[in-house]
Amino acid sequence: MECAAKGRGIRCVGPPLRICPRCKAVAYCSLSHQISHWNDHREECERLEEQMRNVDIVNEFPFTFREEATTQICENKGSRCTFLARRNLHQIGMWSHECSCRSLDVHANLSVLIKCWNLSSMFASCTDPVSSLSKQLSCWKEYYDWRSIPTDSPVALLLQWPLTIYHAVQLNIPRMPNCETSKQIINIHYLGPDKELFQVAAFGELLALLPQYHVHIDLVGPAVPEHRDGERINLDTFACCDDGDCKCKMPNETRSSPVTLQLLKGFYHDRFKDIVKDGFPHLIVAPNAGIAAYPSWKETIELIHLLNIPAVFTDFCEEAAHLAASCLSSVTGCELALPIKLNPFRQPLAVEDSVLHLPCYSNCFMFGI
Ligand SMILES: [Zn+2]
Ligand SMILES: [Zn+2]
Ligand SMILES: [Zn+2]
Ligand SMILES: [Zn+2]
Repeated sequence: MECAAKGRGIRCVGPPLRICPRCKAVAYCSLSHQISHWNDHREECERLEEQMRNVDIVNEFPFTFREEATTQICENKGSRCTFLARRNLHQIGMWSHECSCRSLDVHANLSVLIKCWNLSSMFASCTDPVSSLSKQLSCWKEYYDWRSIPTDSPVALLLQWPLTIYHAVQLNIPRMPNCETSKQIINIHYLGPDKELFQVAAFGELLALLPQYHVHIDLVGPAVPEHRDGERINLDTFACCDDGDCKCKMPNETRSSPVTLQLLKGFYHDRFKDIVKDGFPHLIVAPNAGIAAYPSWKETIELIHLLNIPAVFTDFCEEAAHLAASCLSSVTGCELALPIKLNPFRQPLAVEDSVLHLPCYSNCFMFGI
């Protein structure tokens, strides 16, 4: 954590040990910094106090590693690196992007599609589900039970992407009437992909989650490397496990409708004309969007509002979602169609060094227009 008044003229005098007694969400290096920040903090303090009351719910996961992955990281008693290292996943394959040891630039030069979980078959979803889904999944526990994965498997760290998409689709089915036609195609525009560009094999789980649809996803954002602009990816298998003799290594029959992806570099509002040549989206998904932090979102939001297509956003903590929601309503002049709610499929590994004392997770809170 940093002093909440850092970078406002007078330099900080030490570690931020003075916690705001009311909200307990921000901290200061000194009394003078606390006093000078009060005018700015006054308005948010009550709201943060309210959000701090929900901390236990946000940190709640059904996994055996819950303590290690949540409170211990928030309290600096462990790190994402040690969490991964204990499971022999540190800097391995798709997991390399789950800590900040290596910069994304190093990986940007690689276009190899990693198709392996680096987990044993017991811990991963590498083959078709034994039974099809009889009802909507509403939490990680239901997903793990359905896929017969024990709750000590860390695979949810990567499955946050397809499960968050699945959840966004479920929440918006009533608003996507065109999907109910005989063609059964779901066209998703996925805005601002980042590390998931190197974890796309995880999206193959949509084969199991939405078997009745042909899912096509256009991933568009500035983080798409130049040389991958326009790249098309067909996922007709699940990412494979580590066991040499597992069924996932057998040649499988070609699927009639694989999950298809296309990567596009640039801002959505700049690339929109190129993308819609293939058809209009049924749903827009913008994970970990940071709407309040990046001014480039304004033009994109204006475009989405004009298109009148359901759009779902996520952010790392409730306060970020709150700030994003204010931006959305000031640009669109409308209330949220999907009010801010906790995403049951948020990543169950805390983000380190958050500015606020609030727990932060990838894809933590969901809201939509
Ligand atoms: Zn300070
Ligand atoms: Zn406060
Ligand atoms: Zn690391
Ligand atoms: Zn396997």
